Amino acid sequence: MYKDLANKYGTPLYVYDFNHIEKQFIKLKEAFKARKSLVCYAVKANSNLSVLKHLKDLGAGCDCVSIGEVKRALHVGVARYKIIFSGVGKRDDEIREALKEDILMINLESEEEMGRVELIAKELGIKARISIRVNPNIDAKTHPYISTGLHDNKFGVDVDNAKRMYIKAKNSENLIPVGIHFHIGSQITELEPFREAAKVVSDLVRNLQSLKIDIKFFDVGGGVGIDYEGEETINLYDYSQAIFENLTGLDVTLTCEPGRFLVGNSGVFLTKVLYEKNNGKKRFVIVDGAMNDLGRPSLYGAYHDIEVIGSEGNESKTDVVGPVCESTDFFAKDRVLPLTKHDDLLVIKSAGAYCFTMSSNYNTRARVAEVALIDGKDKLIRERDNFEDMIKNEAKCI
Ligand SMILES: *Cc1c(COP(=O)(O)O)cnc(C)c1O
Repeated sequence: MYKDLANKYGTPLYVYDFNHIEKQFIKLKEAFKARKSLVCYAVKANSNLSVLKHLKDLGAGCDCVSIGEVKRALHVGVARYKIIFSGVGKRDDEIREALKEDILMINLESEEEMGRVELIAKELGIKARISIRVNPNIDAKTHPYISTGLHDNKFGVDVDNAKRMYIKAKNSENLIPVGIHFHIGSQITELEPFREAAKVVSDLVRNLQSLKIDIKFFDVGGGVGIDYEGEETINLYDYSQAIFENLTGLDVTLTCEPGRFLVGNSGVFLTKVLYEKNNGKKRFVIVDGAMNDLGRPSLYGAYHDIEVIGSEGNESKTDVVGPVCESTDFFAKDRVLPLTKHDDLLVIKSAGAYCFTMSSNYNTRARVAEVALIDGKDKLIRERDNFEDMIKNEAKCI
């Protein structure tokens, strides 16, 4: 099947299984079904419009980290009351536009930012619905580059600061505190950090309640890890219980912002072998995809499972590398793979999240096409860039 898709659409190519995305979404909703819940998909994981529309049709809202992402969500018809705007550095124009669009809430990450939002809301003559991202100072035990819940990280504000901000917001003419938020990191495979964070933040909610500050949305962020190389992942029922056990007596809508969990394992990246070569003892498989198409290995040293279609036997250790002029341009190091030949197809697994969205035109390489699989049928959901796409914003300025 992957061979047919590679022939039909060319390589490199992303393929996403929409039925798998649906399965993941339903699993999550099921786990949370004992309470009111709102699943706001983290758009940055995979912001393809068809992916967003698919999730919207399933009932998802969106968690956005730029006004561009907010506009993507609105573009495919996500209800404004299901859109959250997060992020540590929002520009004034982004805040203004988000307020005008009347989205569910703006997630604040500093006191100074709250001041900006208040000022802009005042200019617009409205009340801004806000939530505050609490940094609970908890080690999510994940890769340091994707850990966000420690005071060492740039994200959120500590509990005492958050409390002060809530009191200030309550007394403001132009702010309405409606939510509370934490997001402690990504690709988390242990339950305890979630339980501890939920405890710290729910204690704050009770504290705020006694000050007559009524929190309606308890947002546990995203971060649920997936299986890249056989790692044990979190049981979703245990996950929901670890959070619910802290919410006894609180009338809040459980909100979550999964990205990777929904789309990560529904995608693969297809790339063809160009050449094999040996430098001394070292073997290299050179493929037509590169770090500009899928950057997680070069960015985080991330592991992606790789399958060679149609080749067996003659296995040995090899690096799988792309054509880009950087030594970090690799998909795998010292991976045991069969001997390949020109045009063999490699399937790079778990490529649905943080892969296409991080791609670029580096080396003036066209950003690749994306295809959806829906009930076994394929559908193009993004055309490959052509040369004109890549130069158009410069060509008009020569
Ligand atoms: C990136 C991000 C998420 C999604 O994280 P995943 O690990 O993909 O689930 C959720 N919330 C915020 C605020 C984020 O920045």
